Amino acid sequence: MNPIDNTIKFVLSITDENVNFFAYKSQSIKNKQSKIYIANVKVNCVRCPQCGFNHLNHNGHYIARTSYPSANASEPVYLELHKERLVCKDCGASIMASTSLVDKYCNISQATRQKIFMHLQDDRTQASIALDNCVSPSTICRYLDNYDDLFRRNYDYLPEHLAMDEVRGVGGQLHFICINGASNHEIQQILPDRYKKSIIEYFNKFHINTRKRVQTVTLDLNSYYKDIVKEMFPNAEIVVDRFHIIAMMTRAFNQTRVQTMKKYDKKSIEYRLLKFSWKLYLKHIDELEVSQTFYDRHLRQQLTQQGRVQMGLDTDDTISSTYDALQGIMSCLKNHDKDGIVHYLYKNENLSFQMKETLKTFKSNLKIVLNASESKYSNGPIEGINRMIKQIQRTAFGFRNFHHLISRIKLQQMRTKPNTKTELEAA
Ligand SMILES: [Zn+2]
Repeated sequence: MNPIDNTIKFVLSITDENVNFFAYKSQSIKNKQSKIYIANVKVNCVRCPQCGFNHLNHNGHYIARTSYPSANASEPVYLELHKERLVCKDCGASIMASTSLVDKYCNISQATRQKIFMHLQDDRTQASIALDNCVSPSTICRYLDNYDDLFRRNYDYLPEHLAMDEVRGVGGQLHFICINGASNHEIQQILPDRYKKSIIEYFNKFHINTRKRVQTVTLDLNSYYKDIVKEMFPNAEIVVDRFHIIAMMTRAFNQTRVQTMKKYDKKSIEYRLLKFSWKLYLKHIDELEVSQTFYDRHLRQQLTQQGRVQMGLDTDDTISSTYDALQGIMSCLKNHDKDGIVHYLYKNENLSFQMKETLKTFKSNLKIVLNASESKYSNGPIEGINRMIKQIQRTAFGFRNFHHLISRIKLQQMRTKPNTKTELEAA
């Protein structure tokens, strides 16, 4: 055994028996002082693979330089592989040695490739990954292009609980996103657009029996998704996202508040009551502090949070009843109280125009709104994924290529993937 070979293999964690290191040197490559380890690669067959005879003659070496991961990116590591070539005396076929360290016709080692994929799972730019691995940024792009293949969908399976939404991506366009709504929150699909035609086309690739497996679909009150779900998933129950209901009502309340506020003079106490500390109105009524006082610098007095909210509501009847509707439905959703929701939906005395309109939307979708109070599924996870996608785009300063974006999303979700065990337990 050659001691150089042993040491280099130990340092580089290489175990391939056909590779034998015999020298090393330092050389400047692309203006960087690089370490080069030189090895012979033997052919490990004794017979010609074409004709089967063993009359093989040595026919020189093919020298290839391969990049290899290094601990220090300012000092790249290369392997100079002298691949043995043989020629068959009988049929003239030539054979070249190959190794598992690097693919045929490739200059980047498998180890570097794996390291790049590990880095692509992190929240970092492709340029920095390229720099760290001593490859060009276009190499990284090429890997992402090829990576897409690994995600060819399995059209035999759909989770029982789906959640659908849209996400802003390439060029500010909205993409349709669909995830597993139950515990593991895996992204099922992101489509390049959100047109009805493409969504139906995608789900039509699944057999009807697979689609029948879907039990619930969570979505926001976007009407055309509702039609798609009815058409595609005959057994599924539509659930409107709880957060979406609260968000719509909050928006209506805020509009009412601003409108009421504008009726008053800017210097009046009513104006200040409605303009400032507006977040207190949106807080759940049970969470407001009732005993501890705080100093309100807009009103220049000590008061409790509950007292502050009450003072604001006392300014106007409309805002007070709108507040009651908002708080009422919020607690009913929390306590899974269906009858309570119906009660608040139809008790529209003194409500502001905006709140009436919002409740009208809920009433026309009554069944699916009521489902929201019962179901434990919401679009919360999809909002989290949206946040992650936003972060990926921010780090990359935006994407121009949809497939690169999707590959990065899927790679990053791999790193943050929760254990699939919980889903099996749930199933
Ligand atoms: Zn031969």
